[in-house]
Amino acid sequence: MSTSKENRPVKKRAKRINIRTPAIMQRVQAEVEEHYRSSIVEKLQKQDGRLTLGNTTVRLAKQFGFCYGVERAIDLAYAARRVFTGKNIYLIGEIIHNPEVNRQLREMEIKNISGDRPDAQISDLGEDDVVIVPAFGAELTLMNQLKAQGCQMVDTTCGDVMSVWKRVRKYTKEHYTSIIHGKADHEETRATASRALSGGGHYLVILTLEDCDYLCDYIRNGGESGDFLLRFQGAYSDGFDPAMHLKKIGVANQTTMLKGETEELQRRIAQAVADRDHALDGPGGDKEEKNRFQFFDTICGATQDRQDALFEMLKEPMDMLLVVGGYNSSNTTHLVEIGDQQVPSFFIRNAECLKNLEQIVHFDLEEKTEISAYSGSILDLANPVTVGVTAGASCPNNLIEDVISRVFQMRGHTREEILGAE
Ligand code: SF4
Repeated sequence: MSTSKENRPVKKRAKRINIRTPAIMQRVQAEVEEHYRSSIVEKLQKQDGRLTLGNTTVRLAKQFGFCYGVERAIDLAYAARRVFTGKNIYLIGEIIHNPEVNRQLREMEIKNISGDRPDAQISDLGEDDVVIVPAFGAELTLMNQLKAQGCQMVDTTCGDVMSVWKRVRKYTKEHYTSIIHGKADHEETRATASRALSGGGHYLVILTLEDCDYLCDYIRNGGESGDFLLRFQGAYSDGFDPAMHLKKIGVANQTTMLKGETEELQRRIAQAVADRDHALDGPGGDKEEKNRFQFFDTICGATQDRQDALFEMLKEPMDMLLVVGGYNSSNTTHLVEIGDQQVPSFFIRNAECLKNLEQIVHFDLEEKTEISAYSGSILDLANPVTVGVTAGASCPNNLIEDVISRVFQMRGHTREEILGAE
C-alpha cells in the first residue's frame, strides 16, 4: 500500500551546530591542557625520557599516554559542554577507558545513557538532548535511533576506527564474512561488527590464537556447526552459520590489538583458506571463486607507536615496569603483555596503587581482578633501581606524573628534588 507524501511520518533531524569554531576549540584545548598536563612528564621528555635521583632511575617510554583520537574526543566533549549550555548532555558509554577522565566529564554534568544505571532511557531522548558518541564509535542501530529521535549528535569517533568500518562495509558489499580480531564486548568491536551487518552481512569476533586455531580447523575440515556456535557464543551475527558463511573471509581488527598477534592470526587464517580452497580447486571442486581471503591491518598508528616505544625501552635492562591506565583499556592491556615477557610488569590505574615499598596493587590479566603483590625490586633502598613507566592511549599526563613522583617518594625523594634535578 502506498502512503501519500503528506501522511508519511516526518523524520526529526537536528539542526547542525558547529561546535568546532576556532574560538571554542582554543578555549577548550587550554582547559583540557590545564586539567591533564604535567610538568614532571614534560621534564622527562626533555631529558630523553630519563630521570635519576640518587640510586633511583625512572625511564619513560618515548610514546605514551593520550593519542590524537582521545585528545580530539575529550576536546569535543568539553566543547559540547561550552556550546550547549543548559542542555542535557549524554554520553554513550565512556568517552575513553580512563576513570579519571570520565570523572571529570561527570563533574561537568555530562551524563550517561549506557551501563547498569543509565541517567536516562534512550527512548526518552529527543530534540532538546545532546548525545556524545565516544572515540570508539557506537553501534549503527543506536546511532540511527538517536538521530531519528532528533538528538543533537556530537560524534567523536576516531578516524582510525572509521577506516575499519569502511573496510568491513567493503567486505560485506563483496559478500565476505568479516572476521574481527578483538574483544566481542568491547565498544569499538561492537560498533565495527554493526557495520558488517548494515548490508546484510555476517561477522565473527575472535580474540585469541586458540580461537583462531579452532576457526582454522573448521575452515579446513568442517565440523559440527552447533559446537562451533557454542564455542563462539555472543561473538557472531544473528543467523551466522559456519557451514555457509566462512566461504569468503575478510579479516579486520580492533584498532588497539597487539600487532604481532594480529599478523599471526591473519597468516593462519589465510593458510587455512588456501589449504581448503586448494582442495576445492581439485577435480570436481569449485574453481570459480578465487581470492576467498582478504585482510587489512587496521591497528592504529598511536597503538603501534606505543607498542614500538615499549619494545625500544625494554632493550635496556630495568627492574620493573609500571603500565598506567584504565583496567578496561585494550591498548594498555597489550602494553602490559609486552612488558610481562621481559620484566616484572604491573598494570596500575594510578599512583594510589603504589601503597608502599612492599606492596603494589595491580590488575592481574589472568585473574582479571586487582591483586596485591610484593615489590621486591624497589624494596631495598641501598640497591640501585630502574623503573620503567609507560601508559595507554587513554591515560592523561597528570596521572603519569603522580606515578613517577610516587616512585621517587617511596625511594626517599621529594617533588622539589624531582623538579630541580638536571
Ligand atoms: S587508540 Fe587509536 S583508534 Fe583509538 S582513539 Fe586513539 S588513535 Fe583512535
